[in-house]
Amino acid sequence: MPCEVKPRFVLLYGSQKGQAQSIAEGVAEVAEEHGLVAELSCLSHNEKYNLEKEKSPVVFIVSTTGDGEPPDNALRFVRRIKKKTLSTDHYKHLSYALLALGDTNYANFCNCGKTIERRLQELGAKQFYATGYADDGVGLEVVVDPWLDGLWKAIKGALSKMASDRTGYLKGEAGDSPQETPDSSIPDVQLNLLSIAERQNCESVRASVEPVSKFASAASPSASATQTAVSDLRPASPAGSPGLASQSHGDASVSTSAPETKTKDTGVPHVELAASLTRSLPPLSESSLNVPALPPLYLDVSLQEVDSVERMDGLLNKDTLYEVSISRAVQLTRGDSVKMALLLELDISAYPTITHQPGDSFDVFCPNRGTEVEDMLRRLGLHEQRNHRVHISLRKDNKKRGAQVPPYIPQNISLLYLLTWCLEIRHVPKKAFLRALVEHTGDAVQRRRLQELCSKQGTADYNLYVRDPSLSVLELLSAFPSCMPPLSLLIEHLPKLQPRPYSAASSCLRHPGKLHFVFNVVEFPACSGRPAGRRGLCTGWLFDLINPVLVFPGKAESSGSPALPKIHVSLRPNCSFRPPSDLSVPFIMVGPGTGVAPFIGFLQQREKERQENPEATFGETWLFFGCRHRNQDYLFREELEDFESSGTLSHLKVCFSRDDQEEEEEEEAEAATTISAARCKYVQHNLLLHSQQITDILLKRNGCIFVCGDAKNMAKDVNDTLMDMIKTELQVDQLEAMKTLARLREEKRYLQDIWG
Ligand code: FAD
Repeated sequence: MPCEVKPRFVLLYGSQKGQAQSIAEGVAEVAEEHGLVAELSCLSHNEKYNLEKEKSPVVFIVSTTGDGEPPDNALRFVRRIKKKTLSTDHYKHLSYALLALGDTNYANFCNCGKTIERRLQELGAKQFYATGYADDGVGLEVVVDPWLDGLWKAIKGALSKMASDRTGYLKGEAGDSPQETPDSSIPDVQLNLLSIAERQNCESVRASVEPVSKFASAASPSASATQTAVSDLRPASPAGSPGLASQSHGDASVSTSAPETKTKDTGVPHVELAASLTRSLPPLSESSLNVPALPPLYLDVSLQEVDSVERMDGLLNKDTLYEVSISRAVQLTRGDSVKMALLLELDISAYPTITHQPGDSFDVFCPNRGTEVEDMLRRLGLHEQRNHRVHISLRKDNKKRGAQVPPYIPQNISLLYLLTWCLEIRHVPKKAFLRALVEHTGDAVQRRRLQELCSKQGTADYNLYVRDPSLSVLELLSAFPSCMPPLSLLIEHLPKLQPRPYSAASSCLRHPGKLHFVFNVVEFPACSGRPAGRRGLCTGWLFDLINPVLVFPGKAESSGSPALPKIHVSLRPNCSFRPPSDLSVPFIMVGPGTGVAPFIGFLQQREKERQENPEATFGETWLFFGCRHRNQDYLFREELEDFESSGTLSHLKVCFSRDDQEEEEEEEAEAATTISAARCKYVQHNLLLHSQQITDILLKRNGCIFVCGDAKNMAKDVNDTLMDMIKTELQVDQLEAMKTLARLREEKRYLQDIWG
């Protein structure tokens, strides 16, 4: 029966952290509901697809990583399509759509998607649906959700068009290319055409090609079943009043800041309830909801009692993982500083193979916090089974395409090990996870709120109460006590616990056998759903670890210090963020706060090189540093001033964002510097003050600029300032200035190492 053959499309993803992959898997899962078959594969599996011969629509979902690089599993594909030998009609037959994921906090937003798109078009491919550029900086879903909603119609349109083109071609209407012979895929295409054209007559296909979106619309009459389900879950309240209904729930997390107001007419005081993680207000609380489709379950998890706890060291087997001692821990900021910055020195002398260079970073492997693991075990009702062995396999009735047992979970591990070392239990739950949690929530009010948070209509609340405060799964489960998910659901939705990278803040020429790094202890304030603030996972763990051995600048280190803790690290070489190999090339470093870390390594290396090559010509070096207060968080002050006096650092430019202006001007006046320098708040202001010298280095003297630190504000502000400087110095417009900066990036003379 032709109408049973569903039209196919090819779905390719390139993903670094799994986001693009999970969106692609979601598309593949619901394709069937839309009467389509998705042939899903990773771009690196080029044996599974053949774009050179592809006659069906192709959908790309790709992320961007690092400094605008393709994800590892898309690298070879990008290289292949970039080959200059490919002709301009290489992909003439191809119809594509593309969803690019990126983050506007980083330079080169969605660069991988843009590169693929540009090349596809240069090679003759035709776009059948507008490209989506999703920004993780504001929430991927803002673009991803509507893009996915429109995708199905677009694919069907493309299929029809391709099929009719093909039919026209068969009839000789489009056969303008004598060398192109019809290949074996044509009958398929005809079947596809048939199945779409005849869908009104074919019950089985009709249901699946109905214009339902990925979201089951609770408001749409065609999805009345879903609507009933969602409406049924609304709190039973006399007048549909969410306030009353929520009160009956006895919500413990009602915002204590709820203002008490007096109504004008009666004068009777009443508490105006505020929205919170667990409570919504109209119009959301009264709205019909579009909730995502329920992700299919795909893992079977069982726990087995074992006689003795085996040695479970999956993590430690990694060849490149080194266990090293912390040989020194220094608090770099004063006690009253807003942020605490710490320097750790690692003793790597036992591992001569760790050869790091300035600009490299390395990964620190940290476990989940013990108390949180215990809380999670209790919350799942599995505390007694904490030492049981975990068995994970695919469900027999698995319907998820490409489903696999997470490869980062070793075999024969205990439940305790799984939650301590393998899963990111601090993960901020995505909407799909919230949707899945609804199914395991007993209380109707809580179910409704979870539905709201994962719905289209609840996006603002999701961002406000979940995404922006980085609410963890555990915090969410505490706020929704009737939610009792099985362990398998957590394993399906929680990502791998990732190591945290840190930039090396030392040169092995100055500190052989040692590796320094600097970090701020990250603080998450209390919020709705988080009664007390907490520290970042890795920085909080490191702080607890080194607290007993912490020394303060200027305070003598005690000789009989307590036993020094050990941690696990592995090296992450960075081949481009390196001082220029030609010593005569001038370079500029911009690194406020802990962003100064790699530049300490750069300057230590430069100092050694100057000592060893007294005759050589060295290019000038500039460092732009910034902090809040001169006397609280001016990291490496002495070392930097020494570099400047010795001539290793030609220009040290420091600004203080929070120092009292008068006090600062006084100090600056004392230091006989200009008043305008004293008005600099942030590094970019200082850059602007030295605009001419900087543009001269970059545009006339072939120099480099390195930017390190906060990705959210600083890197963007510095980029904008550089653009303004180029516009002014070269007297060019915005577009030309952008092109100049892009050229500097391409030539690896404008380099960034940014995070946050
Ligand atoms: P988590 O519990 O993972 O929480 C992370 C949250 O904290 C995120 O929401 C993020 O937005 C925010 N965050 C991340 N970094 C910071 C920060 N520095 N200050 C405030 N908020 C932050 N960090 C350093 O302090 N020093 C370094 O030298 C350094 N080098 C890095 C090099 C690379 C290549 C990369 C990718 C990151 C680097 N980081 C550095 C960031 C570091 O890896 C961690 O993200 C950071 O220490 C927070 O980890 P955590 O586990 O404590 O926080």
